[in-house]
Amino acid sequence: MTHMDILEELKRHPYEYARKYKSERGRPIVGYFCSYTPEELIFAADTLPFRLFGTGEHIRLADTHLQAYCCSLVKGALEDAMTGRLDFLDGVVFPHTCDTIQRLSDIWRLNLPLGFHMDVVLPVKLNALSSRRYMIDVLMEFRRNLENAFRKKITDEALLDSLNTYNRIRLLLQKIHDLKYEYPGVIAGEDLHSIMMASMIMDRSELADVLERIAGDLESRKNTSPSPPGERIVLSGGSCNLLDIYGIVEEAGAAVVGDDFCTGSRYYEGLLTIDMNPVEAIAERYLTRNVCPAKHSGLSTRADNIISVVRERKAGGVVFVLLKFCDPHAFDYPSLKGALDQEGIPSTLIEIEDQSSADGRVKTRLEAFIEMLKRKDRKEGELSGAGK
Ligand code: SF4
Ligand code: SF4
Repeated sequence: MTHMDILEELKRHPYEYARKYKSERGRPIVGYFCSYTPEELIFAADTLPFRLFGTGEHIRLADTHLQAYCCSLVKGALEDAMTGRLDFLDGVVFPHTCDTIQRLSDIWRLNLPLGFHMDVVLPVKLNALSSRRYMIDVLMEFRRNLENAFRKKITDEALLDSLNTYNRIRLLLQKIHDLKYEYPGVIAGEDLHSIMMASMIMDRSELADVLERIAGDLESRKNTSPSPPGERIVLSGGSCNLLDIYGIVEEAGAAVVGDDFCTGSRYYEGLLTIDMNPVEAIAERYLTRNVCPAKHSGLSTRADNIISVVRERKAGGVVFVLLKFCDPHAFDYPSLKGALDQEGIPSTLIEIEDQSSADGRVKTRLEAFIEMLKRKDRKEGELSGAGK
């Protein structure tokens, strides 16, 4: 089995991995939903952080507790919990982000057997004077709650080890993405998807070793990788349930050369500072990395970031991915699109409910957008040729 095979297997059967892991290692498993969950603390408590992505199964039980206008991530996770498919979890952490996740926390607390259950209420506004102190206090409380729930002291030494492991993982994910973006043919989009999914599920120490091997393999074959399709795309919007959109874009004839997803670049960007108090280092990273629409750090920071990624990666356009019924991303979209329009950067919006709905309709829309980018390139080429 190659290292990629291991990750693909994990992507296909994440819950089987969790059950086996628990029975072999006896280590508790804590579910979480969002990149505003301080995983480093969970891992330092000798507990496996396990991201929940929803389900591919038909929704039956969850619909009796949720309004029809909830995103598929929340519906799917609740369905899996209510049908017992998440019976390996020893607890679940709910970050204070979108309304849907916050209300899911209440529904979970009232209807499911209680393991460790905690709402991590990090500040919404990240650029206020009090944000840092407030964030550190919440993280300290989370640390104490984990210690009490799992009867395990989280020493500074264990936390430092955890921070170092996460830094190693994030550096390797950055390297793998940089290679993909510079040599798009070096790894298939769907393999990148497997890497990202495994990175939020697998034992993090083992993951770091696997990523090291994969990064080494990619480095050694980058110069012989197949030529990529001509058009270069940046993905933005929301993919909280980590849709395999990379593969769909590639099938439609373009290469993904950057993203702004919390299950993509925002998951691995920003290293933790090691020579400061470890809890403060976690806070610092949250305060300085790019925000998602459920947080705030200035009116134009998200748009500025997307524009700079497009320029830096020489991308032709942006594809906004909107998970159906996701209010935070839907509310953000008009201003982001407006900012791109002002810069002359073409964009399109695709709305997806879950992986199964990413069908021919989405592909056709992407193909039309890519064709438009090609025409734009040809026209610009002709104009610059005529000007010589
Ligand atoms: S988009 Fe924001 S709120 Fe939603 S999962 Fe990602 S980080 Fe969390
Ligand atoms: S898709 Fe949107 S509504 Fe659903 S959990 Fe993510 S941010 Fe919240």
